[in-house]
Amino acid sequence: MRICVFCGSSPGRIPAYADAATGLGRLFAERRIGLVYGGATVGTMGVLADATLAAGGTVYGVIPTQLVDREIAHPGLTELYEVTTMHQRKARMEELADGFIALPGGAGTLEELFEVWTWAQLGLHDKPIGLLDVAGFYSRMTPLLDHMVAEGFLREEYRDALQIDTDPVVLLEKMAAVRPPGPKWSGAAASSVPDGREPEPTGPGEP
Ligand code: AMP
Repeated sequence: MRICVFCGSSPGRIPAYADAATGLGRLFAERRIGLVYGGATVGTMGVLADATLAAGGTVYGVIPTQLVDREIAHPGLTELYEVTTMHQRKARMEELADGFIALPGGAGTLEELFEVWTWAQLGLHDKPIGLLDVAGFYSRMTPLLDHMVAEGFLREEYRDALQIDTDPVVLLEKMAAVRPPGPKWSGAAASSVPDGREPEPTGPGEP
C-alpha cells in the first residue's frame, strides 16, 4: 500500500506543520505504507521524506527536471522518478498511489489536491483522499466547500468524499472505510488519468 502526500515546499509559520509531517512519516513507516511525494528536500516535503526514511520506511519521489535544482531533489529516496512536466508529475504520483493525503501547504499543494479530487469526481480513479487538519488549516477551507454545495456547484457526496481529521491514525481509518461515490457523468468515465500528452490521432476510417 502506498499513499501520496501533497505538502508544502515551505516549512510554514509554526512548528506544528513540520511536526505533523514528521508524525505522518513515522506512522507510514510503522504501518509499512510507502510514501509517494514530490521528491524534494525543501519545506514540509523534505521533513516528511526524512522522517519516513529515518523510521525505516519506503519513499518514492516524483520530480520534474526543471525543479531538480530549485526544490533540491532528495538524494536518499528508495526511488526518485524524474519527469518532464508538472502534469506528468501528478499523473505519475497518482499511478503510484493507493490513496492521497494533503498536509497544509500553498498553491501547489491545493492544486495537486484539487486535481486528484476532480479526477475522482470524473471517475478517473476511486482512491480515498484525506485532509490532515493541522492547526485548523483545512477547517478554514470546509466552509467554502459547503458554500459550493449550497450554491449548486458541488454534489454533497463529492464534498463528503474528502475525509478530514486532525489525527493521522483516525484519518487513515476514515480513508480505509470510505466508499467512493462513483463518477459524476455516468458512462463518461475514462480508464486512466491524463498524462499531459495529446491522445494519438484516430484516422477517419478507424472504429
Ligand atoms: P506549494 O504548496 O506551493 O509549496 O507547492 C507544493 C508542491 O507542489 C511543490 O513541489 C510544487 O512544485 C508543486 N506544484 C506546484 N504547482 C504544481 C502543478 N501545477 N503540478 C504539480 N505540482 C505542482
